[in-house]
Amino acid sequence: MKATVLYGPRDVRYEDVPEPEIVQPTDAIIRLSATCICGSDLWPYRGLNDINAPLHMGHEYCGVVVEVGSAVTSVKPGQFVVGSFCLSDNTCPHCRFGFQSACQQGGFMTGAQAPYARVPLADGTLVATADLPDAAMIPHLLATSDVLGTGWYAADAAQVHAGSTVVVVGDGAVGLMGVLAASQMGAERIIIMSRHADRQRLARAFGATDIVAERGTEGIARIMELTGGVGAESVLECVGMGESMDQAMGVCRPGGTIGYVGVPHGVSFDGQKLFRAQRRMLGGPAPVRRFLPDLMDRVLKGAIRPGKVFDLVLPIAQVAEGYRAMDERRAIKTLLRVDA
Ligand SMILES: [Zn+2]
Repeated sequence: MKATVLYGPRDVRYEDVPEPEIVQPTDAIIRLSATCICGSDLWPYRGLNDINAPLHMGHEYCGVVVEVGSAVTSVKPGQFVVGSFCLSDNTCPHCRFGFQSACQQGGFMTGAQAPYARVPLADGTLVATADLPDAAMIPHLLATSDVLGTGWYAADAAQVHAGSTVVVVGDGAVGLMGVLAASQMGAERIIIMSRHADRQRLARAFGATDIVAERGTEGIARIMELTGGVGAESVLECVGMGESMDQAMGVCRPGGTIGYVGVPHGVSFDGQKLFRAQRRMLGGPAPVRRFLPDLMDRVLKGAIRPGKVFDLVLPIAQVAEGYRAMDERRAIKTLLRVDA
């Protein structure tokens, strides 16, 4: 089969690779219904992460199980499944504590930008639906695998609750999903920092009440003005740069909480400043598996339509154009059709 392989900066190819096979008895093989490109795929694509090339790309996935290893009991061939980008046994102490992204046996999914993929730790990682979903549901279910699950975790980690005032830093796909999550959790006011008209429109559709286009100290001042000089009790940091973390810190009220899910690049903290700031912080790779059954249920009931975040749909053979479009910010997030 052909699959997506990264060789170096801006060199991504759709080329022949061996078909995935069961390696461990806990593995499953799935036929992808659709897959997509993650904002985090752009770090190695841009050469900003060291990689062991060639790298098999793709960690957001849903599809139909075609084969399972001898130890797999919770999913079977023919079932439609969604899995988290973090692999987990869902039984170790960290998994049982709700942090499947810190699973003692865990790791990260790879190789899902392909027609078929191997999912390790299938019992703990995959969640099956009762029936095969309609084709129209696929983008929304695919979104739960990482981008929605990560935005949801940002809101959960930031302790968003009914009546909250929330600031979302970052208008990429994860930030937009953070808006949706905060809205579902009953936040009263959701302020997103965004400078792009198309992203502002989507943010409004997902539940944002206010848009702040200013950045840096001006952006902080604008949000302080909007919140009566107090700041927000919940801040979602969905970028991972020094400037975005400074903004998150700057708009969070004392005693408030920052949920941070942007992979940090160039972020550092001063101990003295952190001490005086009196802000809570929780972040890291999202334990999507904790939220997955609930998120899939909300999608299947039609309560949320997170797949609207995909503003470019391409056949997987054109995956290189999908990366280019996101790299050049022509697209927020690319869905890759596997049927073509
Ligand atoms: Zn575990």
